[in-house]
Amino acid sequence: MRRLTERLSISSQVFGKGDLSDAHHKLLESKLELANKRLNLEALMIWGAISDRSINRIVSACLKYDVEPHLWYPVLADTPVDSTEGLETEGLRAAEIIEVSDEQVKTGESFTFLCPSKALLSENLISRFTGILSRHVFKGVFLDRIRFPGPTNGFGGLFSCFCKQCSDYAGEDILKDARMNYEKLFSTLKRARTPDELRVILEEGIKRLVGFYQMRESLVEGIVAQYSSQARSQGLSVGLDLFAPSLAPLVSQNYRELSKYADWMKPMLYCKTFGPAGLPAEVLALADIIGAMTPHLNRNSVLEGLCLFLGIESAGVISSDGLPLSNFPKQLDIIHAKEIADGIGFYPGFEAVDFPPVYSMDHEHLDFYLRSCADYGISGIVLSWDICKMRNETIEFVGDFIERSR
Ligand SMILES: [Zn+2]
Repeated sequence: MRRLTERLSISSQVFGKGDLSDAHHKLLESKLELANKRLNLEALMIWGAISDRSINRIVSACLKYDVEPHLWYPVLADTPVDSTEGLETEGLRAAEIIEVSDEQVKTGESFTFLCPSKALLSENLISRFTGILSRHVFKGVFLDRIRFPGPTNGFGGLFSCFCKQCSDYAGEDILKDARMNYEKLFSTLKRARTPDELRVILEEGIKRLVGFYQMRESLVEGIVAQYSSQARSQGLSVGLDLFAPSLAPLVSQNYRELSKYADWMKPMLYCKTFGPAGLPAEVLALADIIGAMTPHLNRNSVLEGLCLFLGIESAGVISSDGLPLSNFPKQLDIIHAKEIADGIGFYPGFEAVDFPPVYSMDHEHLDFYLRSCADYGISGIVLSWDICKMRNETIEFVGDFIERSR
């Protein structure tokens, strides 16, 4: 095993809404104290929907324990403004309601997504972000929900956006072609009789949609550029929360293009999480959507075909234990092969919380993740996604691992 780099950057996150209770603040402080002692915790990303009063208290606690406070900001969903009415994405079929999957509801996150082309023009959204920055002393920002809806947002979310603003942005023809090619793909899916046929149909179908997906990627890039430039103009570092590379194309996140606007990127490599962005939850939700259009395939065959298409290892089943851990180094391989710009930090995020039924902490998983990071000479990790939901034993476990590997 290679050693973890001498200066491994370890960060974590804290989630919440409005004013946090005194007990919550106390709990956070105790976690920061332990993480400072055992992990030399470098940064804490503070969720942007937490009230100013509570953010102030958290920032003070961070400074007390020598941890950099960063703003963790949800850009296109869960955005902390009073109203986002009329800004949502619009799905392929006007009658389709944008559903939220059971997997998503379980996490307590029932968000729907805003359309980036509408968000780009909304003064209200960007001024909320700059307002928070002006009221607190952060060291950096960490941008989240910078994407189109994923499979856990259901059919209506996954195949979007067909709003007037997107049509104005891309030109009516691109959207018209996309409608036609989606319908063609959906009718061809009916013919799939084997997992490999499903893979081929999806690959060919997506090729015909390349113009539409380029439009989506450039919109995501536009919104990241807008928020990143605001943060950088105030001297703040910028981190990005990204889907795992196998899933990123589904939500139109182009690692290479987005790296231009970031100092570091966190691919969410959650092999076991049954919640949005978790590999098992997103793949299962995609299987629900595609499975409804493939009458000749049973569920396991749909899963097998999808995993072939996505480059995910599953052997055609996803158990209650999620996906095999081998996907973690596999995703790191894909990132490596993409040859993203030098000088950018890649800090994989993996689940370190105990939060059933979304994820239950298992130190064997954690050990595997840490060993993989050591093998790859990773220079930073993010213990995701809420330090308050992390057991003390978990923090100690990571601390012990680091001590042993140095
Ligand atoms: Zn739109």
